[in-house]
Amino acid sequence: MENINIPTRNSVELVDITAKIEEAVRKSGVTEGICLVFTPHTTTAVMVNENEPNLKKDFVAFFKKFVPPGDYAHNEIDDNAEAHLKSACVGQDCSIPIVKGELTLGTWQQVFLCEFDGPRSRTVYVVCK
Ligand code: ZN
Repeated sequence: MENINIPTRNSVELVDITAKIEEAVRKSGVTEGICLVFTPHTTTAVMVNENEPNLKKDFVAFFKKFVPPGDYAHNEIDDNAEAHLKSACVGQDCSIPIVKGELTLGTWQQVFLCEFDGPRSRTVYVVCK
């Protein structure tokens, strides 16, 4: 398993981690199989989508509207309920087939770490089997 460290710079941010995942696949030596990408945090997520700057802005705006600031119970304990809710909706992992040693992502697909409570130092695990 590869353990990738990702520093984030904003409170909500999409970080393209595709190159790091591809490097982990190469290091694994797996040529036919599955690449599992997992983030072990309750306020981050892993998402596959297009890396287009305006679309990334749209996603950040969408997440804000999807889970607007509010009077959440968890905020009495730890002021980041919105981040937890966004994380749970997007999900903590994705699986990508590996064929001939390469990820089978579509032409416009990239892998993102979604930060919902940054900036922080984050971790992503990559398992290739
Ligand atoms: Zn919390």
